[in-house]
Amino acid sequence: MADEPTTLTEDELVEEIRTWAEKYAREHDLVLNPDERVRNAVLRGLARNQLRHGERFCPCRIRKGVPEEDAKIACPCVYHKEEIAVEGHCHCNLFFRKSAVEQGG
Ligand code: SF4
Repeated sequence: MADEPTTLTEDELVEEIRTWAEKYAREHDLVLNPDERVRNAVLRGLARNQLRHGERFCPCRIRKGVPEEDAKIACPCVYHKEEIAVEGHCHCNLFFRKSAVEQGG
């Protein structure tokens, strides 16, 4: 599902991805990282990857340069559901299980 090249600035793209991530979290009974600094860093990493590589690749994983492999790490990556189930959050610490945030306080 390749995105069309964006004409947005990096800051605009960060906000667009933030809106998407908030919606995704709501729809999947998750929350975004309550730590604003971490949350913003991941969102910015996603925006930069989209600008540089044309896809919202995970900023916390290494791309292999093989399209079908790299597609697995376009956010939301294929790994995040299991990571959230096991650890309470995805590898990048963007999406959290609600209970993990409540317990982690
Ligand atoms: S680890 Fe989290 S932020 Fe990174 S691609 Fe997966 S879902 Fe997105």
